[in-house]
Amino acid sequence: MNHGRRYIFGPVPSRRLGRSLGVDVIPHKLCNFDCVYCEVGPTDKRAMRRQEYCPADKIIAELTEVLAEPQQIDTITFSGAGEPTLNSKLGEIIHAVKQLTQIPVAVITNGSLLYLESVRNDLREADIILPSLDAVSTRVFGMVNRPHPALQIETIIEGLKTFRKEFHGQIWLEILFVKGLNDERSEVERLRRVVGEIQPDKVQLNTIIRPPSNAVFGPVAEKELYRLRELFGETCEVIGVSGARPVTARHRINNDEILAALHRRAMTLDELARALGLSHLDVLISLGIMEEEGLIESFFYYDRKHYKAIEGTEGELIRKMEFKIHLN
Ligand code: SF4
Repeated sequence: MNHGRRYIFGPVPSRRLGRSLGVDVIPHKLCNFDCVYCEVGPTDKRAMRRQEYCPADKIIAELTEVLAEPQQIDTITFSGAGEPTLNSKLGEIIHAVKQLTQIPVAVITNGSLLYLESVRNDLREADIILPSLDAVSTRVFGMVNRPHPALQIETIIEGLKTFRKEFHGQIWLEILFVKGLNDERSEVERLRRVVGEIQPDKVQLNTIIRPPSNAVFGPVAEKELYRLRELFGETCEVIGVSGARPVTARHRINNDEILAALHRRAMTLDELARALGLSHLDVLISLGIMEEEGLIESFFYYDRKHYKAIEGTEGELIRKMEFKIHLN
């Protein structure tokens, strides 16, 4: 059970990392970008200064507790509702994880602070870094990522190149294409050239598949992603159209986990079932009860029904819901 967990969530299904135990080291939506495709919502705290935004000792204590529970975890992933490299204690926390377990550590980052030596040092012990780079021209960078005014795309690209030279683990560079913004021919050509200079181990092409904070922007077509893949060469793969990797381990119903997952991001029934190793029916029953209790709500995005948690619904209501499920 995950009662009282603040910084650790999941495991949740990840298209790239299997069953991923998430570590959130940043308060909700503290970021130096405000991407048009962000699933978390608009950036309400735009920051550039690195600080111990979430206390390292508390995160490590929670991780120690969670890792003592028997469960299938493929990767421990630093991600969540903001930019993880803004936490100045990130290196300390990764070091602590490496003392606790041999499970690979991944960090999903927007890559904007890799020009800082302190950030590159903090990431040294991780196994996989997944930075993003959606644009190379100032104009398109501004439109897609809406960065903090202190950030310049040239500096970010130099940071990525320096990091590649120093880092011995895997770098999987993600490019997320938004229809009509960064898919124009000239930008794609420049991206291709810069990616060739960075030399990541993999290039992963993505598009909007979950509801973004700004519903005005939409995905590029699947066939267009596969056409773009040809341009980026043999290390390139498309990740934006397949579902999460199937999960075979069956877990008991954990309503708290369903709700925790939905507090992180909107998910479909199928995604929840895979994440928690439950039958669709079990998840559907829980979702029905939670909707009735006002804990979650559903909505449609590109013909797929998604569920999301309603803000501030942890606590008493969760216990009430669990009691109801026992009665069923
Ligand atoms: S960098 Fe990540 S968290 Fe920040 S706005 Fe973009 S998608 Fe959202």
